[in-house]
Amino acid sequence: MSMPQTKAIQLPPPAENQALAKVFALNGGFLTLPERLFVTDADPTKAVTVPSLCFLVEHKTADTRTERIVFDLGIKRNLTQYADGMRHHIPARQPIITHPDTRASLTDAGLDPEKDIDYVILSHSHWDHVGTPSDYPNSQFIVGSGTLHMYKHGAPYYPSEMFEKEPLPLERTRELPPTSESYSQNTFSARQTEHKWQPLANFPNAIDFFCDGSVYIIDTPGHLPGHLNLLLRVEKDKWIYLGGDCCHDTRILTGERDIALYDDGHGGKRSVHSDLESAKTTLARIKAFLDTFGDSVEWIVAHDLNWATQNQHRFLAPKQ
Ligand SMILES: [Zn+2]
Repeated sequence: MSMPQTKAIQLPPPAENQALAKVFALNGGFLTLPERLFVTDADPTKAVTVPSLCFLVEHKTADTRTERIVFDLGIKRNLTQYADGMRHHIPARQPIITHPDTRASLTDAGLDPEKDIDYVILSHSHWDHVGTPSDYPNSQFIVGSGTLHMYKHGAPYYPSEMFEKEPLPLERTRELPPTSESYSQNTFSARQTEHKWQPLANFPNAIDFFCDGSVYIIDTPGHLPGHLNLLLRVEKDKWIYLGGDCCHDTRILTGERDIALYDDGHGGKRSVHSDLESAKTTLARIKAFLDTFGDSVEWIVAHDLNWATQNQHRFLAPKQ
């Protein structure tokens, strides 16, 4: 009788002239998170003002043109532009800092958000990630499967009133196709795209965005319908994993804490994730991936204050 085989988690080897991604952090504002909503064994009175990190990803194409992605747009600089359904939520996240935002970060560095950004990819559409899309009037927006349905119909714990009526420019928005593991309540039929979900390492669904192994979009369901992460090859064998809101506290990914459950206001318990079971599966997958690759994959989640504090030199630098 043969032994059961455990399949090794592997990443694709670099090509001869492997294309790479360059990654810079961008400011997306700050908001304040009460610890008890996010991690177990929390200090009930503790709240931490954390960044909503965004990123600029630069990719050089074969014809040497640089293509640029902005991953997440952070907090809107004008808080009055949020949907009415956010009116009670936003004061509960004060102090909030809205400047500098991604637009200011890019323009200070000599980039023009109206001309220089090819793609805006949103990890998900929570208010502290969707930013001010009108700052990018010529970019193509990319969102995960189920996002457009959610704007209209809401998701568990996140009713449609929490989303603006037209949060994104639909004529320039591409929703990625559904995956076999997509959000269970997703009935939205996405329009066809050339991108196909394929397994990568231990992730069942990933898209090789530029088809050259430099930028992968990873389907990471659970937090909100259409939640996406990015895996970026920054050297031949070095990667950066942008985890969005797969967790809001790094101690969940290191295994020191668990996801908090709190009163849902209707006699039950909820978490910050719209689909807790999917979120747990996704986290377990990310953890196994990171454990496998150790120092060759750096991981950054959107609200990691420590990373932002220790890595100021990795933010896009203002022009001298
Ligand atoms: Zn979120």
